[in-house]
Amino acid sequence: MPDQKKSILLVEDANFFARITESEIERAGNYDVAIAKTYAQAKAILDERKVKPFLALVDLTLPDAPDGEVVDLTIAAGLPTIVFSGRFDEATRHSILKKGIVDYVLKDSPASLGYLAELVHRVDRNLSTKVLIVDDSSQALETLTMRLQLYCLQVLTARSGEEALEVLKKSPDIKLLIIDHLLPGVTGFETMTQVRRTHSFNTLAIIGVSGTTSPELTAKFLKSGANDFLNKACTPEELMLRVSQNLNQLDRIAELTDMAHHDPMTGLYNRRHLYNVVDKLHKKQVNAGKEIRFAMIDIDRFKQINDKFGHETGDNLIISVAHRIADLLPQNGVAIRIGGDEFCVALPDIDELTAKQFLSELRSSMPVTDPGNDEHTFAPTISVGLSSGTEETLTGALRVADRCLYRAKKSGRNRIVTSSSATFDRV
Ligand code: GH3
Ligand code: MG
Repeated sequence: MPDQKKSILLVEDANFFARITESEIERAGNYDVAIAKTYAQAKAILDERKVKPFLALVDLTLPDAPDGEVVDLTIAAGLPTIVFSGRFDEATRHSILKKGIVDYVLKDSPASLGYLAELVHRVDRNLSTKVLIVDDSSQALETLTMRLQLYCLQVLTARSGEEALEVLKKSPDIKLLIIDHLLPGVTGFETMTQVRRTHSFNTLAIIGVSGTTSPELTAKFLKSGANDFLNKACTPEELMLRVSQNLNQLDRIAELTDMAHHDPMTGLYNRRHLYNVVDKLHKKQVNAGKEIRFAMIDIDRFKQINDKFGHETGDNLIISVAHRIADLLPQNGVAIRIGGDEFCVALPDIDELTAKQFLSELRSSMPVTDPGNDEHTFAPTISVGLSSGTEETLTGALRVADRCLYRAKKSGRNRIVTSSSATFDRV
């Protein structure tokens, strides 16, 4: 089911700007933009409660609210608010920052629209992003917590290095650590070094902070494992930009890693995932004395299908089989496209009978036609080999499953062969 669109309230009286902002934002993500042209319309939308926005983008000057009154309205409604305006002077900047907005954007160029769209996307992702702040000063903790909460982040706090390590252990999904170097007990530098033993640069960003401006500090922070360094006296804008940059970089790494582990044609995992992640899962199961079965699945006489109906039909069949595997996959199972017309399914903690039931259902549910072309009706079949579940290594398990698959092919195809021997085509 597609994700439900999230709503954003856009308050802007200039038609043209409202329209291009709307399209830029809708391009940035799965968002619905509710547009109000005046303060009164914005108030009506909020009072009506039909639309439940998670964020407000507001123009500072409106015909019926010339002095930023709409900012007070959206903030009072509990909405994180981004302000835009044709011009900003120091006094305006100061007064709107005091109201507790997320950020402000100048409407001066197409680039600022791009910034706005990225900011919206960032705030959206921040809602589910955890940050840990480590500082022994209550005031510093309070100030940073307040600023980061304005930015919609989920904030956790710790007052010492030891406490920080505990919190990180309990919440492994923390994405950003902001840490002071002067801490009681274990120092900030030592804490970072310890954290880096278990949290790589690919999964956790660290920003070191300090109240002093010693030039040596920055290098010391970076050497201890920080990605970045901030002075405590920095402006809210700088804090936000650095936090965003570090989180965006982590998101990009996660996206690339995800792409590197998936087969683009079917959306299933690929060989890299099998030999990296599933290998670890296999070791974990073996060490815990638990079983993990592997099924090798291969489409029968696929070359003939390619030759007779064309490569595109072959591709569609591979995709359909992949979807069937994904749809029927038992809980915790991992589906992988090994390559070509061959798939592998890892089945941790699944007994042989359940594994056979899944494979049988899969075998008997093969797609019958080439979708979209009635003339190309055919009935593809698959052959399957299933390992015993107790092999010591991944390579050993795959070899057993492969041998069973070979026997299934040799003995006539369209069947499932298990290592315990019996060939069967029905459970
Ligand atoms: P068997 O029953 O013994 O498995 O016979 P088969 O014809 O299926 O033999 P095999 O599994 O070796 O054939 C795989 C063929 O799949 C060979 C290759 O040309 C084709 N192939 C590999 N990747 C793709 C792909 O992405 N798309 C399509 N359409 N064909 C592919
Ligand atoms: Mg084949």
